[in-house]
Amino acid sequence: MTVIVRFAPSPTGRIHVGNVRTALLNMLYAKRHDGKFMLRLDDTDTERSTEEFAQGIIEDMAWLGLNYDLTAKQSDRFAAYDAAAEKLKAEGLLYACYETPEELDAKRKRQRMRGLPPVYDRSALELSQDDKDKFEAEGRKPHWRFKLGGGVAEWNDLIRGPVSINTASVSDPVLIRADGTYLYTLPSVLDDIEYGMTHVIRGEDHVTNSGTQIEIFKALGGTPPEFGHHPFLVGADGKGLSKRLGSLSIQSLREDGFEPMAVNSLLAKIGTSDPVEARTTLDELVAECELSKISRAPARFDEAELKHLNARLIHNLPFQDVEARLKTMDLNVSEALWLAVRENLERVSDIAEWIAVVEGPISPVIEDQGFIAKALELLPEGDFTEETWKTWSDAIKEATGAKGKSLFMPLRQALTGMNHGPSMQNLLMLVGPERARARLSGETA
Ligand code: GLU
Repeated sequence: MTVIVRFAPSPTGRIHVGNVRTALLNMLYAKRHDGKFMLRLDDTDTERSTEEFAQGIIEDMAWLGLNYDLTAKQSDRFAAYDAAAEKLKAEGLLYACYETPEELDAKRKRQRMRGLPPVYDRSALELSQDDKDKFEAEGRKPHWRFKLGGGVAEWNDLIRGPVSINTASVSDPVLIRADGTYLYTLPSVLDDIEYGMTHVIRGEDHVTNSGTQIEIFKALGGTPPEFGHHPFLVGADGKGLSKRLGSLSIQSLREDGFEPMAVNSLLAKIGTSDPVEARTTLDELVAECELSKISRAPARFDEAELKHLNARLIHNLPFQDVEARLKTMDLNVSEALWLAVRENLERVSDIAEWIAVVEGPISPVIEDQGFIAKALELLPEGDFTEETWKTWSDAIKEATGAKGKSLFMPLRQALTGMNHGPSMQNLLMLVGPERARARLSGETA
């Protein structure tokens, strides 16, 4: 059996870290099992879905490197959904209901007051043709509910273990709204059948849906796939992320300068028994992917951890991997500069600060004029090489007796105007003899 899985976002917004965790788990699972991964756009809600959001999702997936083998779009498939709905209607499994939202609300309130669960009472099943005609004459349009069998749906969840949902305690789900549009349930099941999904891996908000969907799979003549429901992400404080998801969209993270593999490394591992580590390729994550490692507890998404991973990746990023990107950022950076400063960067764009330090003009910070004058006097003639810093600082040490921080800090401050930064051996070469002399003379250069 070839594994086929899908990531099925609705293009009603940009995808965020929560969605991407689902996408990533599916993609890694497919790769791990030599299977196929589909991107399915669940765009049956034509009011809220836009082409722009669909393109945004495609862009975000590409940036993360989450490549898929197959694509599908639900808005292309209304004829198939209509045919499936007709089949269910003919079998009496999809029935017309005429209650208004207010009437349904009132029913639920009455049930709650009587201490009953707010499950739909199925009174629409009792309607005669006359009753229905009367409603239609009033201008009411039906919405359509799937008639659940009232049994127990059971499956061995790939993440949660054995799950059973008693569909007698669940309302018959509405599959088609009064305006004729489909809710996600029927199209999703039909697509899962027709595209041959072997596994459905999604968030735990869908556990009850899976119970009802198993019945719909069977009603449509399909075999339910295996299910895996992962817990939600929460923030570092343990609180839900829903209010912050805007700033945690992939688009914002990219604009904030995060590396795609920092995002992937974190999302593949939080909430699992594996440690979170900076990985440079998705293949490494594939090799480590096991759904059974995912814990039942919510996964903590900590932006500080993301920053840390990002810095780790940048500290080892070879020049070839960043050269083109620096050019598109209009930054003129040599390999020597990149290698000299990468360990001081949290984001690639931070390099602008070091370009400014190297190329100037900067204002040197000189507290001890005498010391710096002596240093200038001892600065080797000619071009700077890898040895220049050591030869020079040894000579200053010898001449002044200064050592350690009191030797290095005044030189750093005079040459860079800063108290911290990359190794002076490399920086000195990059600053070069001319600017170094000017700065040591107190000039802005
Ligand atoms: N479009 C659905 C959602 O975003 C898909 C859920 C599923 O994976 O079945 O919730």
